[in-house]
Amino acid sequence: MSKAHRGTGIRKEVNHGRGTCPVCGKTQIKVLYDQDVDGKKVKVCKVCKAALKNKAQKEARLAKKTAAAEAPAEAPAETPSEA
Ligand SMILES: [Zn+2]
Repeated sequence: MSKAHRGTGIRKEVNHGRGTCPVCGKTQIKVLYDQDVDGKKVKVCKVCKAALKNKAQKEARLAKKTAAAEAPAEAPAETPSEA
């Protein structure tokens, strides 16, 4: 078994998997990683793959946090005030 992103594993790829990254615009970089960018599946370099992964993780954490914070805050707002 060869490594998917190195050596023998990328010999069959066009230009050995090298090209221009659609995200950072770097040329002659290995673009081997499938990522969803604006709903489209594109191949990006490893730097952008890591950046997108970190961004997605951060957003997921943030969404979880806000959902947890909003739940108890909504309860007292719904009670009608009789004044
Ligand atoms: Zn890139």
